[in-house]
Amino acid sequence: MAVINERTEARFYERTGNGYVCKLCPHGCFIPVGKYGRCGSRRADEDMLIAYTYGKVSSLCVDPIEKKPLYHYKPGSRCFSVGGVGCNMRCRHCQNYAISQLSSGKKRTTYERPDEIVALCRRERQNIIAFTYNEPSIWFEYIMDIMKAAPDLECLIISNGLICEEPLRQLCDVADAFNIDIKGFTDEFYVEVCGAHLQDVLRSAKTVHGCGIHLELTYLVIPGYNDADDEIERFCRWVLDELSADVPVHFTRFHPDNEMTDVQWTPVETVLRCREIGMKCGLKYVYVGNTLSDEADDTYCPGCGMAVVRRLGYLVDRTGLDGSRCSECGYRLNIIPRSEKRAQLRYDVSCRDEDHERNHRGHGDSAGSGLSQPGDRAPVRFSGLYAYDPPVSDVLRHPYERSPHLLQRDPVFSEHPNPGVSGQ
Ligand code: SF4
Ligand code: SF4
Repeated sequence: MAVINERTEARFYERTGNGYVCKLCPHGCFIPVGKYGRCGSRRADEDMLIAYTYGKVSSLCVDPIEKKPLYHYKPGSRCFSVGGVGCNMRCRHCQNYAISQLSSGKKRTTYERPDEIVALCRRERQNIIAFTYNEPSIWFEYIMDIMKAAPDLECLIISNGLICEEPLRQLCDVADAFNIDIKGFTDEFYVEVCGAHLQDVLRSAKTVHGCGIHLELTYLVIPGYNDADDEIERFCRWVLDELSADVPVHFTRFHPDNEMTDVQWTPVETVLRCREIGMKCGLKYVYVGNTLSDEADDTYCPGCGMAVVRRLGYLVDRTGLDGSRCSECGYRLNIIPRSEKRAQLRYDVSCRDEDHERNHRGHGDSAGSGLSQPGDRAPVRFSGLYAYDPPVSDVLRHPYERSPHLLQRDPVFSEHPNPGVSGQ
C-alpha cells in the first residue's frame, strides 16, 4: 500500500522575499523557494518552509546508555536510539557521514509517525529514548511531537550544540539529558573542520546547563588538530568557570574516517594525558573513550576517592553507589541513579503552537521502519525503505564544502527525487 508522507511545517522561520530565513540554527540560511537548507532538513515550498526530514528515520537500535556517551545518567541503562538524516555541520571526520551528509552516503530512511516510534520503543520495553547518530536538533518538530505523544519517556539528546537559543530552550523542556560535542577549542578548528563557530556551541552548553538539564560533554581528540595541551587546558578551565566541576567530560579517541583517513588513531596516551589535564584543572569526572581502560573509565567519589562505578567497555558495576551517593562516605555525586523516577512531566501540551498543530496534518500509514547502527541488539524492525535524496544541486552548499568526490549520488536511489511516497 502506498504511503503518503504529508508535509510538516517547520518552526522558527520568516518569509523574506522569494524565500525564507530559517532560524533554527545559527547558520540562518536564506532558502529560496524550491531549495533546501544547508542541513537538508528544511525545504522551501511556495506556501511555507517544510520540515523535510520529519519522520524520516535512518537508524533504530537499543544501545547501552554508556555508548552515547552518558556515564552519569542512569548508568547501566539501555536506551532506544533513533537517528534521522542530515546535519548542520560537516565535520571532515564524521563517522556517520553516510546519514549526516546529504551529498554522500546511503540516505535510506523509513517513515515513522511519532506514535509509531513510541510504540516501537515500548515494544522493546525501553523507557529512555535517545535522539542520536546524526544531528537531532534539525529534527526539532519530530522530537517535540514524539515527546508529546509519550511524555513519560525520558529523552536524551546527543547533539553538536549548533542550535539557536529559543528552540534549544524548548528542547530543554522535553529533554532529560544532553551530551554536547565540543569538537575543539579554537574557532579556526570549528570553521575549518566542522563548518561552524565555537561560540555558538559553547552558548548552547551554557543554556542546557543553566536550564538544569543533565549535561555531559564529549571532546574527540584528533592528533595534530585539537590535542595541544594548552587547548585542552583552556577547554577544561572553561567547563570549570562557565559550567561546573561536576559536569562529566569525555575525551574520546579519533579513528580515521570520512575525509580524514590520512590521520592516525589518537594514541591512548594522548587521551589519558587530556584526562590528567582535566583533573588537574579541578574537574571531578573526566573519562576517556573509544579505548578499553582499567581505571580511566571508572567514576571515583570526589569525597573519599573510592571507585563508585566501574566500567569495562559497556559493562557497568554500580555497587559502590547508593542512589546518587557514595556507599562508603555518603558524598552526593552528580549521578542520576536508575532508581530515580522522572521528577515530573515537564512537557506542557497546552503551550504548543496552535498554528503548528493545524499545519501538521498527520501522515499516512507507514511503509515500515528499522535500519541499524552497530550496537548490542538487532534492529527492531526492517521492512520498507524510503529514498532520501533531494537533488544535490538544490541543497544550499556549505561554504566550507571541500569534497567534490562526495557529491556522487547514490545510484540506487537517485531516480527517486521525491521521498514522500513509497510502497510496500
Ligand atoms: S542549516 Fe538547516 S537548521 Fe540551520 S539555518 Fe540552515 S536550514 Fe535551518
Ligand atoms: S556534527 Fe556529528 S553528525 Fe554532524 S557532521 Fe559532525 S560528527 Fe557528523
